[in-house]
Amino acid sequence: MGRNSLRILKWPVALVLVTALLFSLGSALPVNAAEPSRDFQETGHTVSGDFLTFFDGHGGLGIFGYPLTDEIVEDGRTVQYFQRARMELWPENPLPYRVQLGLLGVQLGKAEPGLESQPAGDSDTRYFPETGHTVKSTFKDFWEHNGGLDIFGYPITEQQEENGLVVQYFQRARFELHPDSPNGSQIQLGSLGEEYLALKAQSSKKTEDSSSTTNAEQEATTSSQVQDNKQQNDSHQNGGAGQESSAGESAAGPQPADTAPESDSPNAPANASLAPQPNDTASKTATTTSSPSASSSPVRVGVQAGHWKSAELPAELAGLRTSTGTSGGGVSESELTLDIAKRVASLLQTYGIQVDVLPATVPPAYQADAFVSLHADGDASGKRSGFKVARASRSAIPGTDDALVTDISEEYQAATNLPVDPNVTRNMTAYYAFNNRSFQHAIAKTTPAAILEMGFLTNASDRTTLLDHPDTVAKGIAQGILRFLGKLGESIGNSGSN
Ligand SMILES: [Zn+2]
Repeated sequence: MGRNSLRILKWPVALVLVTALLFSLGSALPVNAAEPSRDFQETGHTVSGDFLTFFDGHGGLGIFGYPLTDEIVEDGRTVQYFQRARMELWPENPLPYRVQLGLLGVQLGKAEPGLESQPAGDSDTRYFPETGHTVKSTFKDFWEHNGGLDIFGYPITEQQEENGLVVQYFQRARFELHPDSPNGSQIQLGSLGEEYLALKAQSSKKTEDSSSTTNAEQEATTSSQVQDNKQQNDSHQNGGAGQESSAGESAAGPQPADTAPESDSPNAPANASLAPQPNDTASKTATTTSSPSASSSPVRVGVQAGHWKSAELPAELAGLRTSTGTSGGGVSESELTLDIAKRVASLLQTYGIQVDVLPATVPPAYQADAFVSLHADGDASGKRSGFKVARASRSAIPGTDDALVTDISEEYQAATNLPVDPNVTRNMTAYYAFNNRSFQHAIAKTTPAAILEMGFLTNASDRTTLLDHPDTVAKGIAQGILRFLGKLGESIGNSGSN
């Protein structure tokens, strides 16, 4: 769209003045030829282009407040901070979603666990199963009449008292009730943009001060400052970022229409924006056979042995260090996943594929042609049975991921004859290693990824397959990956059933 080049150009002063004048006369005037722009003398910053269109189209000052920065680039993305929001430019999105608001409520660590189930509420209460929270009365009206999901996101807390005010946090906003204000302005939005910028400045100052620590330690410290505030909203497997899963419960199914476009949007992860993301590090350090041209580099696949070496997880995922998974038949989950991962790796390697058998810790922004995380389920009754495959609910490449999920699911079932367990969980769709918005130690958003619960270690029948026929299990997984990579022309051994 030429936006980047426009941004670089210095506008002639006269043109800026004319534009400002046109806009001061009213927004009814068409200004198509040049990118519109407006200076805010109150803070000395300028809003222009798509951001200005979004600003004017979604409530202006009342919703966003004044700009606190000009357009800046954070983690490779053009963003602009306002008192109450961060606008993010997503030029790859369809037009209505080119500008997205950052998830500042989430990034400030305000999310709280949702309610177990829908409360018996009155018609004045709206329950959001996506996060398990409700919105009531005047807050509900405000949410519904001022932009709803696109502007505020889902509620991530209930109403609560904070600094003497009744407030409620949403993914992108804080509602505040000011009972002494005149009617019509009793609900105001908190200054999340301002608070986030302050936290960021504080973090980078601390980083500069601690000159004795290594870069990695600094990043971890900085990250944890945000992460430590995060309430664990879901069970630990998603690293306490359960709210990330709110876009959809069903991993393989289509996204709800209103959330699909933002599958990719709430990025600018807190950590990555606080510390630069070493995009290339993963492939550079892990690739031992570097090839001169990208086109001739080998196909690369990451197979993660779920829970393996979880005690070594980095600070940003410290909450998962004790996540050792299930067990059954005297075998722990990580023993099983490591054994299967190694078998899958050796099968794939016969096709010339470079395979990384990864522990719980994923290299930062891990890049590969496919990433598959292996797990097994546990259930106290011993009755539940079957396998399931899922992708990130907020995948940036949902179609690609769905293909990987389908290929693995079908090949795995054909190989193992295990039943499909339809109960995909949020721990799967919000799996921490998918969550590159919150964690540096996660896959790159361009890496196709799936998580496979191979079966129930606590179920005698499943266990027979998993422990007594590991090569069959590995074959099903490898064939699914090969099919996804378009390399299943020649199947390994006997394809199909065992
Ligand atoms: Zn697991």
